[in-house]
Amino acid sequence: MSYTKRFDGRKPDEPREMRAEVGVIKRADGSALFQIGDTIAIASVHGPRELHPKFLQNPEKGLLRCHYDMSSFSVPERKRPGPSRRSVEISMVTQKSLNAVVDLNLYPNVVIDVFIQIIQANAGTRCAGITAAALALAHAGISMKEMVAAVSVGKVGDKIVIDLDKEEEDYEDGATDIPVAMTSFSKEITLLQLDGEITKKELMEALRLAEKGCEKIFALQKEVLKSSYLEREK
Ligand code: ADP
Repeated sequence: MSYTKRFDGRKPDEPREMRAEVGVIKRADGSALFQIGDTIAIASVHGPRELHPKFLQNPEKGLLRCHYDMSSFSVPERKRPGPSRRSVEISMVTQKSLNAVVDLNLYPNVVIDVFIQIIQANAGTRCAGITAAALALAHAGISMKEMVAAVSVGKVGDKIVIDLDKEEEDYEDGATDIPVAMTSFSKEITLLQLDGEITKKELMEALRLAEKGCEKIFALQKEVLKSSYLEREK
């Protein structure tokens, strides 16, 4: 059966509704919330602070550590709390997708910790986490060369779409889901995971959708950061 109209009526290049906020955790050095559809990610940044144990310190550059976790209440069936292979993998790819933009050579011997908590999950959580983490890093005043935004694209049936929801991800034997993270100026791809089948032509189309979606996210990140600075100056 071909997938013609999207389940929730969105256009192929239309991401779910988005919302972003910074300063959501007062005790953190920087924090942010990013919501896309029913997926909500909260990121909190702690540091730069001295790295312990000391033998791990690098006098040349700092260490960015990302910790991704999904709350047990974030999905319809209670998720087993604690780390899993999935959360370890997502923490690692999140770190890699942000490493390229953080000026780590300005932070010798220190660590910057980013904690990402998914409080509500309806697909696309790693992308929402990366987007929230980039916002939280900027909110913490960490020196960054450019911003990072992430969105998933993919193939549902024979249709190329942006920002798959859970229903689309589970369509028939499962959609082809491609989380993509991108930098704001150089448009460098810092995350691309591909699970499923897709032709080269379709992949190029999907990447074009990802770039369009990331542009929307960059605009939102900019707007939120700008108004938080204006608020601080008052
Ligand atoms: P992502 O959230 O980045 O798309 P996955 O493809 O691994 O990553 O997960 C897809 C979706 O499946 C999640 O967003 C969530 O809605 C759901 N999910 C993941 N893990 C669980 C779990 N342990 N229990 C229930 N649902 C889950």
